Amino acid sequence: MSDTIFGKIIRREIPANIIYEDDSCLAFQDISPQAPTHILVIPKKPIEKLSDATLEDKELLGHLLLTVKNIAEQQKLKNGYRVVINTDVDGGQTVFHLHLHLLGGRALQWPPG
Ligand code: 5GP
Repeated sequence: MSDTIFGKIIRREIPANIIYEDDSCLAFQDISPQAPTHILVIPKKPIEKLSDATLEDKELLGHLLLTVKNIAEQQKLKNGYRVVINTDVDGGQTVFHLHLHLLGGRALQWPPG
């Protein structure tokens, strides 16, 4: 299993505000929220980054996206939301365990920096 901070959250070695879990993924509040709703959805499989995903991960990636959608509904983000996957150095990724950011609860600007 991944030895990042997210691996430790999966293994319950450090606390997190977990809002959803199933056999293949986990969702929890971001520790430094950038919007009123800022939730991270991660696979339990330790894929470092989106660019490392393979055809074998096709079903898992679809499951992560649908999980984000379901959480957005639970969070009542009726006006919309943004899903972000920062990937590798130029993508601004800081934790190298694949994660989807769900951001909502306010109007978000575009383009990002
Ligand atoms: P990235 O920059 O890699 O796309 O996003 C990493 C995210 O993980 C950041 O938004 C950061 O606030 C969040 N994060 C980093 N460490 C922790 C932690 O220990 N707990 C939680 N809940 N979020 C974290």
